[in-house]
Amino acid sequence: MSMLAVVVVIGGLALGGLLNVLVARLPREREMFGWPRCTRCGRRLAIWQLLPLVGWIFQGGRARCCGRRLHWVFPVVEVLCAAALFVFYVRYGLGTAFWFLSFVSAVLLLTAAIDWLHRVIYTLFILLPALICIIVSPWVPGLGLVASLVGAIFAGFAFLILFVLARFLFPSNAVPFGLGDVYLGIFIGAAVGITNLMPALFYGVVAAGVFAAGILLLRRAGRTDMPAYISYGSFLCIGALGYLIVQSLLREA
Ligand SMILES: [Zn+2]
Repeated sequence: MSMLAVVVVIGGLALGGLLNVLVARLPREREMFGWPRCTRCGRRLAIWQLLPLVGWIFQGGRARCCGRRLHWVFPVVEVLCAAALFVFYVRYGLGTAFWFLSFVSAVLLLTAAIDWLHRVIYTLFILLPALICIIVSPWVPGLGLVASLVGAIFAGFAFLILFVLARFLFPSNAVPFGLGDVYLGIFIGAAVGITNLMPALFYGVVAAGVFAAGILLLRRAGRTDMPAYISYGSFLCIGALGYLIVQSLLREA
């Protein structure tokens, strides 16, 4: 592995760590700046505790300050971020495709983590990135303005239909599909383009289906500790990220 590849992996871990700061702070809507604090007890963290992945491992998955368990989502965000950037670097070098795909992956990981933990997708943090994808699409190899625009519009309409259907079928509060998922569809469409939209959504839809079926089976079997809902957006995000990684691995040189 070249020196530059090591730098990319460390950069990926660091980017994942930064995303985790947003994951921890955005839902609380305050203290966006200032020294990072423990997500459990609020005490100031030591620098070594902040190191991506390393901090989590050294603490044994528990906060050193209060002994409470740290959520597994945080190290997973950091590992996936580093893995994605490494694959993009190996495949595309440090060209436009690398920076574009890294940006898209960061947005997907941020959205996946917050939706998983809080069942929220922030409108600004998904529609603004969608707009950025459309604006830069003419310079992204294999994307282009038309594919990006049509992808965003098509996905937006398709998800809006699903959203209306879900509202109709589940009039209660436990709607499995929110307006945030519609915006997420628009972002994925803008990021991958209309030609890649179906395969990019495929993994997430299948994974969410398998997960939901598993929960239903376990509930039938008498388990009562199953979640009452699934974060559909998280599956779509991780599915799209998986697609980008696999596609980069498979694409001809
Ligand atoms: Zn603590």
